[in-house]
Amino acid sequence: MKRLFQGGRVVSGSGVAALDVLVNGETVEAVGPHLSCPEAETVDVTGKLLFPGFIDAHTHFDLDVCNTTTADDFATGTRAALRGGTTLVIDFACPNKGETLQYGLDLWHKKADGKSSCDYGFHMTIDDWNDGICREIPQMLEAGIPTFKMYMTYPAMMIGDRDLFLALEELRKYGAFAGVHCENAGVIDALIAQKKAAGEVSPASHPATRPNALEAEAVGSLLRMAQVAGAPVMIVHLSTKEALEEVRAARARGQTVYVETCPQYLLLDRSYYENPNYSQAARYVCAPPLREKADQEALWAALADGTIQTISTDHCSFTLAQKDAGKGDFTQIPGGLPGVESRGILLWSEGVARGRIDAARMCALLSETPAKLYGAYPRKGVIAPGSDADIVVLDPEARGLLTAADQAANVDYCPYEGWVTQGVIDQVYLRGQLAVAHGQILTGPMGQYIPRKL
Ligand code: MN
Repeated sequence: MKRLFQGGRVVSGSGVAALDVLVNGETVEAVGPHLSCPEAETVDVTGKLLFPGFIDAHTHFDLDVCNTTTADDFATGTRAALRGGTTLVIDFACPNKGETLQYGLDLWHKKADGKSSCDYGFHMTIDDWNDGICREIPQMLEAGIPTFKMYMTYPAMMIGDRDLFLALEELRKYGAFAGVHCENAGVIDALIAQKKAAGEVSPASHPATRPNALEAEAVGSLLRMAQVAGAPVMIVHLSTKEALEEVRAARARGQTVYVETCPQYLLLDRSYYENPNYSQAARYVCAPPLREKADQEALWAALADGTIQTISTDHCSFTLAQKDAGKGDFTQIPGGLPGVESRGILLWSEGVARGRIDAARMCALLSETPAKLYGAYPRKGVIAPGSDADIVVLDPEARGLLTAADQAANVDYCPYEGWVTQGVIDQVYLRGQLAVAHGQILTGPMGQYIPRKL
């Protein structure tokens, strides 16, 4: 079946152009001005923007963490993703310490295969380092996983400097790389102990135990280790202006450093933790924590000037009941926010419509650059002949409302409750199929595993 999108503007990482798009089956056949194809069904997208399907390279679906399991599994999480224009998620497969990478990969396939409504891939978490895991790296590349994750905090997952360094060296040999969660574990523990001793256990204490300086310290430390290893590295969910300075310094030394941030660090600030209503404050607990307005401004500037390459969500959702389980001790609140459903329209409304970034930059941040960085380009990340027909039709004139009552995610709150968006996502096509129209999800679990290669 052929479909011809007529009258719209096609967005790429380098610009916006009035072009028609002809789709044949699952892929794009042609892109050009005034295309005609009599046998094609025509879709009038006059006045609309056509983005390549968004890629969310940082989700945690069906993850056992904080003595519970995330509220969204691959069934609900990928429906939420699709509804928000995200046609590919890259989730973190996460074996426990002592397990093999292959065990983690098989487990994540079990969680995702046959259940996912959008396409998906996995990064592999390395939380142990030994000869066996070292030998598994080429096996992971074979399986379509050229990207890895390591943690500098969280006892269950943190790997330690020696093993982190050895893993960076090994990944470099294959042209693979890791994203790293950068926070200083030891000092955070000390600050938490001090807060508890002082009886200051409300969510308002959360950001004070994870100050900006401790993200910058960890980023700086990672980047110096990467320098010695001669390895490129990705800083995931960077949240502070101080950490940006560490990135700029490393690049000035000639290092290859990629940076990701998330909508919550661009749009929400630490004042949410000061809400005297415990439940209201607890729902915003995540790590790194929400920061200051000055950090938001620095991040927006870094998006516009190219210091930051991608925006993912770190979607790690819990219901209010799960969040409230930490009542009386902020360290027991499961950390994480939902975000996979709202990222695209938030970046349009708060970014492009407000003039902070342009549409091409948004496309680079959400589609083109993650596709290239993570090895899915040009199948994903671009509307061009031969690429998958993953297309987001965005209406820049309509207005939308973000609210918990209107979510596909399995979460009973929305961090952006009541926000009115300039622009709405009108339709989403996944490999040529109309998957979402006016907020209604029309397809089932047709998501495919996408092997990637760098
Ligand atoms: Mn994460």
